[in-house]
Amino acid sequence: MQGTKDKFPHLPERISGLRELAYNLWWSWHPEGRALFKLLNRRGWYLSNHNPVKMINRMDGPALEAAASDPHFLRHYEAVMTRFNGYMDPSTGWFCSRFDQLDKCRIAYFSAEYGLHHALPFYAGGLGFLAGDFLKECSDLGLPLVAVGFMYPQGYLRQMISPDGWQMGACEMMDRENAPIMKMEDGSGEPITVKVPIMDPPIYLEVWKVQVGKTSLYLIDTSSEANDPWNRVISDRLYTGDLEQRLRQEIVLGIGGVRVLRHLGVDYSVLHCNEGHPAFAILERIREMVDEGASYRDAFERVRSSTVFTTHTPVPAGHDVFSYKLMDKYFGSYLPTLDLSRDELFRLGMNPSNPDGFNMTAFALRSSAYRNAVSRKHGEVSRNMWQQLWPELDVDRVPIDYITNGVHVPSWIDRRLGDEIFNQYMGRTWLDEHDQPAIWQLVDEIPDRVIWEHHRFMKEMAIAKIRERARNKWRKSGSDLNNVMASGVLLDPSALTLGFARRFASYKRPTLLLQDMGRLARIVGDPSRPVQIIFAGKAHQDDQQSKQLLQMVFKAAKDQSFGGRIAFVEDYDELLAQYLVHGVDVWVNNPQPPMEASGTSGMKATLNGVPQLSILDGWWIEGYNGKNGWAVEGASEGPDRDARDASAIYDLLEKDIVPLFYDVDEDGVSHGWTAIMKEAIKVAGQGFSARRMAKEYTDRFYKKALESTMKMEREGMREKAKGDIFGGI
Ligand SMILES: *Cc1c(COP(=O)(O)O)cnc(C)c1O
Repeated sequence: MQGTKDKFPHLPERISGLRELAYNLWWSWHPEGRALFKLLNRRGWYLSNHNPVKMINRMDGPALEAAASDPHFLRHYEAVMTRFNGYMDPSTGWFCSRFDQLDKCRIAYFSAEYGLHHALPFYAGGLGFLAGDFLKECSDLGLPLVAVGFMYPQGYLRQMISPDGWQMGACEMMDRENAPIMKMEDGSGEPITVKVPIMDPPIYLEVWKVQVGKTSLYLIDTSSEANDPWNRVISDRLYTGDLEQRLRQEIVLGIGGVRVLRHLGVDYSVLHCNEGHPAFAILERIREMVDEGASYRDAFERVRSSTVFTTHTPVPAGHDVFSYKLMDKYFGSYLPTLDLSRDELFRLGMNPSNPDGFNMTAFALRSSAYRNAVSRKHGEVSRNMWQQLWPELDVDRVPIDYITNGVHVPSWIDRRLGDEIFNQYMGRTWLDEHDQPAIWQLVDEIPDRVIWEHHRFMKEMAIAKIRERARNKWRKSGSDLNNVMASGVLLDPSALTLGFARRFASYKRPTLLLQDMGRLARIVGDPSRPVQIIFAGKAHQDDQQSKQLLQMVFKAAKDQSFGGRIAFVEDYDELLAQYLVHGVDVWVNNPQPPMEASGTSGMKATLNGVPQLSILDGWWIEGYNGKNGWAVEGASEGPDRDARDASAIYDLLEKDIVPLFYDVDEDGVSHGWTAIMKEAIKVAGQGFSARRMAKEYTDRFYKKALESTMKMEREGMREKAKGDIFGGI
């Protein structure tokens, strides 16, 4: 039906396995896969920005022929292909060994964004990486899951900062021919086209597939020529501010997504909506059952009992609400096919405290049997936020559970740390067994000097990469020299380095560290114990307030009185994130509680021995144990709240963090510091991996939902059999 067979026409038969390998993101978390591509063409690997599809497309026939007859390359090729094929064997994995009777069942996972690799830029931030990490982990565990998302042709914002510090966005079109994605085609080689039912004029979807190990991710693309211009741009951009276009996006993702799976013949019995954006999928599943003869009530119950919904944000503006007028416009003709009245639909999406609109989160909560927040604290906040949907229940009985987020360990661990240090001190199988808490106790076996020197090396690498970016920027004509200086040219690998990198959103308070510039200048500028801060992150294009925050940070970076010790690095992406979470000394997070539902960048950093300094919010409430970093309580509400929080952070820096970092013994190591590094690794490894998270979703939700659908199917069959007998009389 589709596949890689027409890719790389110039690839010799002898090494034709590279086709499947390049188009499977398996290589992104298996270093041996990347090493093979580097061996094939080291320069090309870097020039393609680590994208094997682009790299091989650009190689000429003779170069590939040479590899195909090079015994050294072939030995590695065979070894990697053997491992890859072994990994892809569908009968392996944790899930298969535990749930063999369920292995025919599948979970369909819907999310508006996925962060998988910098070669596939269709993510905005944490929600996307959570989803991307989850797909990789499901593949590792052998969980039978397929995923649906959007192909955002212009979703990616290349960030450039003007001389006055204003974020200038340039949308980058994704180069589809050179990305590890495949267009889905029918038997005759034509792109498959799926029609979204309720849109007028109709919308035609094309579909792309990303292979994430064993997990398939289908991406919906509306840019087909068959569409009206207005419809063509539906999936152009992530999280558009135009509410009507946003509703149309969510109809396409939810309803269109279910149609796509139906068209592809993908069977699944459990639906998992990651955040409210794709929740219309619930309606389309109900419609399918009604269409097959079920009553609305039965269909609703069946869908509800097999739907999982994860809510991700305590920020009220983060929940989509569509006016009834808009809903009428789009759902007027759809409702009769559901056998559902307008009032009933609107009741499902009603938020009693703000009843004039259809609230996607309220709708998803009412229509799923399994609901969760993404950290313990976020569970509490969500139960308070949504108690109004269950007015008869006490707040602590509101049925919203929590499963704390986690990060995909093979994707975020620094390879040198893992291969050279963990392998030696924790045993070669540590990665396979990384959700066994006992394994992580062995971190204490690592000699202090080993981890200290390793980290120093990682810091040098990160700073070298940042300087490389600054150099490229300077080379580009028109770059203002002060801008170049602000982007990290003067960073010093021997100084204590703080990192603050994430989406710029006001609740994350990116300027909090700049509250008291005088005090900050004294901390940063101490000649015997210098401190430097690396900032990075993008503001949403329509978010002027966050762009202003970014401008303030940039102004500080350009301020000569800080002497280059504050840097703003442009164009934060997955690659820069990797360097920073491996290479800074302290990861800073200072959201306004309780707005940070979980936060995952701190998990990535601490996993790599970069302790976190954070306000107690999101995951840090569970993660902080007094020995693995630093915590600030978070001031009570009031006009000077930011000032009090900033002051508490300065206190910690002045009294604890800076002195401890520079308290080095004769061997050049701060043993107090390495103790914190090790504790940070242990806590993150034991509790905050995507493996722990995916197993929790399976044991607590998927398993039950799969069992209940199987039971209903059996009962349905019995009913049907009864009906046939009586029907025959
Ligand atoms: C992990 C990650 C995030 C999420 O960061 P938070 O601090 O949790 O908001 C955002 N962007 C990138 C590139 C990431 O890798």
